[in-house]
Amino acid sequence: MHTKDLERYQRQLLIEHISIKGQQKLFDAKVLVCGAGGLGSSALMYLAAAGVGNIGLCDFDVVSLSNLNRQILYVPDDLRKQKIIIAKKKLEKFNPDIKIIAHFEKLTLDNAKRIFKNYDIIIDAVDNFSSRYLINEVAYKNFIPLVCGAVCECEGILTTIIPKENTSCFRCIYPTSPSLNFTSKTFGILGAVAGIIGSMEALEAIKLILGLDCLKNKILIFKGIENTYRIRTIIKKNNCEVCANNVFTKGEWGNVKTEDW
Ligand SMILES: [Zn+2]
Repeated sequence: MHTKDLERYQRQLLIEHISIKGQQKLFDAKVLVCGAGGLGSSALMYLAAAGVGNIGLCDFDVVSLSNLNRQILYVPDDLRKQKIIIAKKKLEKFNPDIKIIAHFEKLTLDNAKRIFKNYDIIIDAVDNFSSRYLINEVAYKNFIPLVCGAVCECEGILTTIIPKENTSCFRCIYPTSPSLNFTSKTFGILGAVAGIIGSMEALEAIKLILGLDCLKNKILIFKGIENTYRIRTIIKKNNCEVCANNVFTKGEWGNVKTEDW
């Protein structure tokens, strides 16, 4: 490890679970964040801060003024510009030693599979159920670990899905959505709450990289007003359309194409 890295990451190298060996795992990891909004802003910043060496971001939106109460990667000068372009520049400036890849694409079943296969871990930081279902399905069917976070007003949830271990999935928690048109524009969000859940998504990804225990088959429910964190067990649904019959067999994992890096 370079002397500069020893200094930059000094305070986390002191953590028993990280040290030099764990830091090298972080340098080598490939994490994709779907959504560069409120959750994505904090998740991306903390992944970059930790030295996760290859970070992808996927979004097709532009910055608007109403984003700025929670999407802390952006400032008023960024209005009407593509989020991923701004986010990539800021993250590269923040940590010039890591690789940032921007995917300006609206996810579909086809392109999600193509994009996801380049990554070790996917972070769901989107703002609508239809995208969440799509991300869950493609990640599960391709056996890629998925960290799921969501916020609404002053509350948030967090869970981690490990298809290779046949855990429960997002569809097990929410078999149907309130409405597939349910978007961030229809409910309130406090920026600090998005920041908390986004940071926790980064932490889950970091723990996965380090081989530590995560929120698999569990859901964390955070209520900001009441100041409570509760963890509940998720019951895997035997008839879940995504995860019920998707059992991992040796040989399907590790098919990671690295040409984009
Ligand atoms: Zn399921």
